[in-house]
Amino acid sequence: MNEISPAIRAKVIRLRRSLIEAAYAYYVLDAPIMEDSVYDQLYRELQTLETEYPELISDDSPTQRVGAQPASQFTPVRHNIPLYSLENAFNLEELARWESRILKQITPSQLSYVCELKIDGAAIALTYTNGILTRGATRGDGQIGEDITGNIRTIKTIPLRLHLESPPPLIEVRGEAFLPLATFTEINQQRIKQGESAFANPRNATAGTLRQLDARIVAQRGLRFFAYTLHLPEETITNQWDSLDYLQQLGFPVNPHRRLCHSLGEVANYYQEWEVKRNDLPYLTDGVVVKVNDYHWQKELGFTHKFPRWAIALKYPAETVSTVVKEIIVNVGRTGAVTPMALMSPVQLGGTTVQRATLHNSDRLKELDVRIFDTVVIRKAGEIIPEIVRVITELRPKDSVPYQMPKECPECGTMLVRLPTEAVTRCPNQACPGILRGKILHWSNALEIKGLGEKIIIALINSQLVTSIADLYQLTVTDIASLERMGEKSASKIVAALNQSKQQPWSKILYGLGIPQVGLVTAEILAKQFPSLTALTQASLTEITAIKGIGIEIATGIVEWVSNSSNQTLLTQLEKAGLQLATVSETPDAQPLKGKTFVLTGKLNNFTRSQIQALIEKAGGKVSNSVTQKTDYLIVGENPGSKLAKAQQLNIPQLTETDLTMYLPIG
Ligand code: NAD
Repeated sequence: MNEISPAIRAKVIRLRRSLIEAAYAYYVLDAPIMEDSVYDQLYRELQTLETEYPELISDDSPTQRVGAQPASQFTPVRHNIPLYSLENAFNLEELARWESRILKQITPSQLSYVCELKIDGAAIALTYTNGILTRGATRGDGQIGEDITGNIRTIKTIPLRLHLESPPPLIEVRGEAFLPLATFTEINQQRIKQGESAFANPRNATAGTLRQLDARIVAQRGLRFFAYTLHLPEETITNQWDSLDYLQQLGFPVNPHRRLCHSLGEVANYYQEWEVKRNDLPYLTDGVVVKVNDYHWQKELGFTHKFPRWAIALKYPAETVSTVVKEIIVNVGRTGAVTPMALMSPVQLGGTTVQRATLHNSDRLKELDVRIFDTVVIRKAGEIIPEIVRVITELRPKDSVPYQMPKECPECGTMLVRLPTEAVTRCPNQACPGILRGKILHWSNALEIKGLGEKIIIALINSQLVTSIADLYQLTVTDIASLERMGEKSASKIVAALNQSKQQPWSKILYGLGIPQVGLVTAEILAKQFPSLTALTQASLTEITAIKGIGIEIATGIVEWVSNSSNQTLLTQLEKAGLQLATVSETPDAQPLKGKTFVLTGKLNNFTRSQIQALIEKAGGKVSNSVTQKTDYLIVGENPGSKLAKAQQLNIPQLTETDLTMYLPIG
């Protein structure tokens, strides 16, 4: 037998206590205090521990019971056939394990499965005596439920008399009572208006409604029903699929989205198809129920004390899960902001593995009071970044202590600062390697430099090959290949990607520079308004704030950023490296010679003097008679005069007639 450590015992007790409390709130009060997905996860944890240490199982463990004892307002009724719960699978691998388990017990030549949507409502059991509805009951703890016949009668889609000529003396029909989402929202709005608390989800609202003492209120609530189980006294029907059709014939609503599948692959398709389509349904579903179709095999497989072995609920990935915090670190970002982050045991959340969550800032950290080894509830904020919603304090180890934010920067040791007006703590050292890493990573993302990820950036900084964004463009294949675990091939790919990034438009560069509060959209607006670095540098605060969408705070940030000397050095270096710090217009410039002064000497072949003068002027240039310092170009024809010598003396560039015509608006 395994030796049980006090820590394990304490954990089992803590888990059990939390789950019992949550189940009571959920089943009896219809007012959950825990997210369903978190309940499921903790339940599994307890189940695993109890499997490993069976002597820790107690009678009151939630793993030993179905539902909860019924509340006392209604008459208790015994179910002749117990109403079981369903085992859960959280992904297709678990579903496959379920199948291999059942195939150890039975050896059918082929198994077929009925897939049904798992509607988030409450199970009810309906008894028909000689075709007349005589009893409606809640599931309760599976053995004993509550008699809610009066309330059930208000559900209009439940037949009070079966559509049968000569009904058998006793039929039991089971199914899901539920509230459509629109009704659920309406009820909650009304409750809030009346100063009552809102129901947490349609399932609790349904259970709460079914157990209303006043049947008139139930009638107003608009409950609906889908039948999914039929118990007949004689075995006239031999499988689940046919029973659903028969239920429909008897007058029950049956969910139309059922499917008969002949392999687990087909089940997987159904599951994946409905993962998307369920969002368009007017009611909430939280998974699919997969049932072995043939009653014969169902009978062979039988039940555990809690579940049928022949059915499983395959749940959809949750958007909220719980996990344990292993470590709290602080991350220094490109702006110097120091963000606390929780490193957690890896967990599946909304289809991806998550092991880091932001704690935003020291205020939020204090408010949440997240500590190392805490069990926390996390969810995805927006689409990508997971965040910690709360700590399950009941599961907190006794000796845990609050986390203290460091006083010094973990990257460079500088004392951290926090301005009274700000929520963020910052590292004030602009040379901090953490800030540099953040800046370069942002640049790499903004300019879509393939292969230049965080690991390589850290290696480049550590080996001092890169101390600024501009250094990236001095890197050679040999430099990059000298890094640990980096081959020539990958190194040349990175150099190629860096060269490619020189073609990125001015707006992306503006974004990549990381000017405070200049995101991609602002960068695009700025690039349009100030199509070159020169234009932006010369822009006044008033000119920038005049742009729609740019306020004084952003404008001040921009002006300060461009006038900072180290930023100016960076810009000069980037320009030299060949990046386009201006919008490259795609349509030919109407005045390509704008501001340029030309002097002509010698005989031209294709134009007269006045023709060429007109063309130069049309292109925005000027023609002058004598060569001076101000002359930009000398146009040299056949037999040039003394002007050529003068131009050579003054180092003025010369163009031939053909050179010039390339810039002229001819034709
Ligand atoms: P379950 O909800 O996982 O599955 C069984 C139920 O599925 C049935 O009773 C029935 O109501 C429903 N169902 C819907 N469509 C069905 C179909 N086509 N065929 C068969 N059944 C169908 O199990 P459960 O025992 O009712 O409840 C356990 C669940 O309750 C947990 O998974 C948890 O999410 C939730 N719970 C939450 C808390 C909490 O604090 N949040 C506490 C206790 C339980």
